[in-house]
Amino acid sequence: MNKVLIIGAGGVGRVVAHKCAQLPDTFSEITLASRTLRKCEHIARDVRAKTGREIHTATVDADHVGELVALMRDIQPRLVINVALPYQDLTIMDACLEAGAHYLDTANYEPPDVARFEYKWQWAYHERFEQAGLMALLGSGFDPGVTNVFCAHLAKHHFRALEYVDILDCNGGDHGLPFATNFNPEINIREITQPGRYWERGRWVETRPMEFHHTFDFEQVGPRRMYLLYHEELESLTRHLPGVKRMRFWMTFGESYLKHLEVIHNLGLDAIEPIEFQGHKIVPLKFLKALLPDPASLGPKTRGKTNIGVIARGPDKDGRPACRYINNICDHQAAYRETGAQAVSYTTGVPAMIGAKLMLDGAWMRPGVWNMEQFDPDPFMAALDQFGLPWRCRATDIDIDALPA
Ligand code: NDP
Repeated sequence: MNKVLIIGAGGVGRVVAHKCAQLPDTFSEITLASRTLRKCEHIARDVRAKTGREIHTATVDADHVGELVALMRDIQPRLVINVALPYQDLTIMDACLEAGAHYLDTANYEPPDVARFEYKWQWAYHERFEQAGLMALLGSGFDPGVTNVFCAHLAKHHFRALEYVDILDCNGGDHGLPFATNFNPEINIREITQPGRYWERGRWVETRPMEFHHTFDFEQVGPRRMYLLYHEELESLTRHLPGVKRMRFWMTFGESYLKHLEVIHNLGLDAIEPIEFQGHKIVPLKFLKALLPDPASLGPKTRGKTNIGVIARGPDKDGRPACRYINNICDHQAAYRETGAQAVSYTTGVPAMIGAKLMLDGAWMRPGVWNMEQFDPDPFMAALDQFGLPWRCRATDIDIDALPA
């Protein structure tokens, strides 16, 4: 019996629930829990309609270890899939240790009161998980997640060393709304408005937000301007891939999106320090989130494709200079037809299911706290093809620094 508990009934939770339900041999019993029961029940109804499977639902406030432990003792899951928010990572890890369940997430811990995400808090759990004979798999989404596995694949099959690595994340989808984020707005805006950062010759180089940009012609999307950002997989990949000389992360944004962000920032609506408002304390960014469209509602509206991948340079297995590009293209409407969610949720939820499957099947089961690139990429890459995220890897001569701004 492989009972799983999925925590978080947002866009990603919806995809994870659908994909797990499609594999009854691996995920024999599924419970979806979130703060709002209604959202879980809605997803459970859709899963039943699409797959014929019943999934259980429950309410939990994942900020409270006691509530989580009580739920886990009741359900007895072998694995907990955390697709709530990064703020809940540590409470859910604590509860897994107490109740004896394996753990998986798609985003690293972020303290609610500081806009700063880092792995150090979760890596500090390694020995406790190892001693308990439990495993925690960190960042099993697309980026982080698939991008880490793409790097592991390139390192295993194509390069002696990955020396120059660029991760390119393009969402070419259009939802027709003036401003909306494709995943949780609070997390998204916190991520984008921070200074940029990249790794070069053994140290971090900090940039102003959106300081560096190039226009890249993304296959099946077209030319898009992409901006250098700091992104969490850079921290684990620069630690686990020997010989990396430079690693950067790029994400595309439209002019209108950036203009909205600028106005939001100038008005102070992205602030995370509470302010006094009519006798109440409110966090401006949380207030803004309440005004913005729920990412889960974008599914039917979004058209176009995502194109996310890695370009790497370095000596190939024979020591000759080489450059390769590996990527996946995902169609928003196809994702919606299958799961009721757009491609940003889909490209996160499918890898979460695959990571969970590899843990439960034993292919990736190892006590301790691990990042994706620390495992054999082959079964994960095969599963991407099988479960809806096909990829392509080829030689290229693209030089990002030579592209127009
Ligand atoms: P949503 O905001 O759509 O969903 C988050 C869900 O978590 C909501 O249903 C919310 O429940 C629930 N939740 C929040 N706080 C709590 C709590 N204290 N207790 C229980 N449930 C809670 O976000 P997404 O689905 O878009 O994203 C989910 C996760 O995936 C995020 O951590 C995000 O950072 C990550 N992500 C990772 C990506 C990757 O490629 N690695 C890409 C995109 C997202 P309720 O509504 O009931 O309050």
